[in-house]
Amino acid sequence: MRVKGKNVIVTGGASGIGLASVVRCLEEGAHVVISDLPDSAGAERAAELDGTHGGRCLFTPCDVTDTAQVDRLFTTTVEELGSVDAVFANAGIGGIGPSDQVSDEDFLRVVDVNLTGVFRVARAALRVMYAQGSGSIVNCASILGMVGQSQTAAYSAAKGGVVNLTRALGIEAAPKGVRVNAIGPGYIDTPLLAALDDEMLQGLISMHPIGRLGRAEEVANAFLFLASDEASFITGTTLMVDGGFTAGKS
Ligand code: NDP
Repeated sequence: MRVKGKNVIVTGGASGIGLASVVRCLEEGAHVVISDLPDSAGAERAAELDGTHGGRCLFTPCDVTDTAQVDRLFTTTVEELGSVDAVFANAGIGGIGPSDQVSDEDFLRVVDVNLTGVFRVARAALRVMYAQGSGSIVNCASILGMVGQSQTAAYSAAKGGVVNLTRALGIEAAPKGVRVNAIGPGYIDTPLLAALDDEMLQGLISMHPIGRLGRAEEVANAFLFLASDEASFITGTTLMVDGGFTAGKS
């Protein structure tokens, strides 16, 4: 039981990879705070999952573009559960379009959620975890933090930022007992891909040497590992969960 008795926060926890991570943590005996936008299914999911495996499951609404809401998420969690042992800064949005037509507003929105949002969550986590002298922060990057892809300028820039943010924070936090890592998913079958048509999906599948999209649970398992003491000598790194996407061409 890798996270038994630990208190875990998952941002973007009402859907996709986040929700799968919530479920896996509960299965392994953790108490979990689902955090997501106020109008998400987070409250409903938490009510369904609370106590199913013995641990508590709570919902705290939080928009990661709002510093006050992020800070409140951590103070509320400490008040309710006593500590924050692991956090998955997973909330994110997509962004596809020809770069010569992307507005400042659209570019900045993707960066605000996917990069600055991750920083806001990590910063709030560091404050709590430094006081505890322990903790594990896991950021959600992407294959597009490692390689570029046409028509994903803002998304690729943000995810590349997450990879190097993770290195910088990993080094800075290590002497204080806090580990900071990231996960780099390949294309995962979640609502984030709902806008893509069948031809586009087949094109994406063909880029993964394993020959299929990933499953949210497969990313959740990587989060569980990095959150746990099994990863006690790992910090500042990005673990790719991508079916070989970034390993090279086959
Ligand atoms: P989902 O859309 O299923 O889940 C993301 C969740 O984050 C949603 O509930 C979403 O709400 C929420 N969210 C969006 N904006 C905010 C915000 N400002 N504050 C708080 N929560 C917010 O996507 P995935 O599970 O696929 O994505 C999870 C992470 O994985 C993201 O960081 C994504 O970039 C990354 N990723 C996903 C890949 C994939 O192929 N699916 C590939 C590589 C990385 P709402 O639904 O209302 O937008």
